[in-house]
Amino acid sequence: MSSEQALYPAARAEVADPDSVLLPGHDVPLGRFTTVRRLLPHRQRRMIGAWCFVDHFGPDDVSQQPGMQVPPHPHTGLQTVTWLVEGVIEHRDSLGSHQFIAPGQLNLMTSGHGIAHSEFTPSDRPPAMHGLQLWVALPTQARQGPARFEHHASMPVWQCGDARVTVIVGEVGDARSPAQVHTPLVGAEVVFEGAAAQSLPLNPTFEYGMVAMSGSATIAGTELKPGSLLYLGAGRDEVTVDAADEARLFLLGGEPFDEPLVMWWNFVGRSHEEIVRAREDWMAGQRFGTVAGCAAPPLPAPEMPTVRLKARDRFGTFT
Ligand code: MN
Repeated sequence: MSSEQALYPAARAEVADPDSVLLPGHDVPLGRFTTVRRLLPHRQRRMIGAWCFVDHFGPDDVSQQPGMQVPPHPHTGLQTVTWLVEGVIEHRDSLGSHQFIAPGQLNLMTSGHGIAHSEFTPSDRPPAMHGLQLWVALPTQARQGPARFEHHASMPVWQCGDARVTVIVGEVGDARSPAQVHTPLVGAEVVFEGAAAQSLPLNPTFEYGMVAMSGSATIAGTELKPGSLLYLGAGRDEVTVDAADEARLFLLGGEPFDEPLVMWWNFVGRSHEEIVRAREDWMAGQRFGTVAGCAAPPLPAPEMPTVRLKARDRFGTFT
């Protein structure tokens, strides 16, 4: 068994719909004080549209411990999406951005060719922290472009029967997010205040997945709870969500992303050489700039593995 197989346990086939795949996540330490549930990439499924990384953190009690403490680190080839249900995070980046994010707000950072940022739970904070951090892979035409940071103080909401749909990226129903993305993509929080069954419209050219942040729901016949991602595939024009009680879900979707990726540490690239260059530039203090106002020293990159990194397609197949 490779170390990767040990990290990504095989999915248990508890799905009612042949096109659905339930993918259990695994716990990963993030810095010294936080553990997250990593839901993508998964051994059986690397991406949903351009979404290439999904971490669910909390709900954690951060009244007696420091919460998120992530010193300056670099990114290439991706956008980071931060979405909170509880708590507050202080973001700083090498463009000079300094932004607190609260529940219901969006931080969207586009690395382009290179950016560095830090994320800290500030000392003055609510007692709980709960949210998602996601990465969006940039397509070839955008990934060599400039870095950018967007903060949106509120996101559009579409009330779809009993489901309150907050659109973070893309559009659902009559709500469209102002966030700038580079491939056809959707990300939306779906909240039920109590027991209800609701059909949500989907774009049949997109593939989709859903995450439960709290509560549980039966989605296209399969029960989804926090800790797993339900991959729904493409070709659906709707999905039925049956919530037994209060539930907070997150819908991810997009046009299948055809470019194979090399993902290593905080870099998304296309080749081993490109990742080596990004690592060398970070360690040499070049390309990524400095995160002004952050007292913590920058994170050193890990050593490169002794084997060459290989690109993989969205199914996890080496190319
Ligand atoms: Mn980051």
